[in-house]
Amino acid sequence: MEGFNVNTLVRESVRKLQPYSSARDEYVSDGSDMIFLDANENPFDSGVNRYPDPYQRSLKSLLAEQKAVSENQILLGNGSDEVLDLIYRAFCEPNKDNIITLPPTYGMYKVLSGINSVENKEVLLTTDFEPNVDEILKVVDANTKLIFICSPNNPTGNSFKNDGIKRLLDSFKGIVVIDEAYIDFSKDQSWISQLKKYPNLIVTQTLSKAYGLAGIRLGICYASEEIIGVLNKIKPPYNVNQLTQQRALQRVLNQDLVNQEVQQILDERTELMKALDSLEFVIKLYPTDANFVLAKVDDANKRYQQLLEKQVVVRNRSTQPLCENTLRFTVGTPEENKKLIAILKAIQ
Ligand SMILES: *Cc1c(COP(=O)(O)O)cnc(C)c1O
Repeated sequence: MEGFNVNTLVRESVRKLQPYSSARDEYVSDGSDMIFLDANENPFDSGVNRYPDPYQRSLKSLLAEQKAVSENQILLGNGSDEVLDLIYRAFCEPNKDNIITLPPTYGMYKVLSGINSVENKEVLLTTDFEPNVDEILKVVDANTKLIFICSPNNPTGNSFKNDGIKRLLDSFKGIVVIDEAYIDFSKDQSWISQLKKYPNLIVTQTLSKAYGLAGIRLGICYASEEIIGVLNKIKPPYNVNQLTQQRALQRVLNQDLVNQEVQQILDERTELMKALDSLEFVIKLYPTDANFVLAKVDDANKRYQQLLEKQVVVRNRSTQPLCENTLRFTVGTPEENKKLIAILKAIQ
């Protein structure tokens, strides 16, 4: 991508914006004996009486080291949902610009398009669930700012082949967002390693899945320093709270435990797939690179209800294009899986 200049893609109002400067932008405690009388906080120490670090420096420094990027290439948000919303707001002019998504995929992109009054052009995946690159490039117009690629994809579970994604990165003059919410379950390498090569690439990740921290809401965005600079301008100053920063830091430091849990989930996934495969009402299992399995069944509504009667909640994805009569099973604990498998085998 020669001659890429992110400023030509940024919304005019954002380009002109003078960002809010918070008290903690100017001074952050370095542990020395400073007296902070600048932010109208309650001075009595409770562990959380101070505003959090608006740039989450400790957490970013650890992530930067682990992912081999600079701290200025990271933006953290209140879940990836906030990160994705910031990307829309930075680049898409409401009622003028458009974005492209590749259904069947994560539903939030479309919702965010609606919230931000941005047209969502849709280009279906091929029947083997790969991006239809020729068709995507045909649909791109002068107002197309973003293409959202979810890999491994939710709800299909597969990772997309590199060639198609590379072609998009090479040809598209806007920004390609690769949502890697499930990358920690995948054999494939993260696209973070390609950030230097592609200034039009944004990679998002989250602590909600493999890291087991959906409850604290921590989403991560990796991109060029220029793109991160734009997103920093418009993010709410204290969008990642103190408790979240602390818990995230502990967990990211304990990488061995995360890896161990991921391996256990992958082992359980193998067991679950074997069991699903042996069932008469399961017509097809789709290849998965994530912590869930998409299965085509004879009658998804019926099987969904039968499981619900046994207190098991799965996701019926049948309304999604190319996903008729499919159920999505998240991999649970070994005990949960045992129960699920016994219930599935008893269903007629
Ligand atoms: C679960 C999921 C997320 C996670 O969103 P958070 O807001 O970080 O919890 C993001 N993208 C996809 C595709 C997901 O399935």
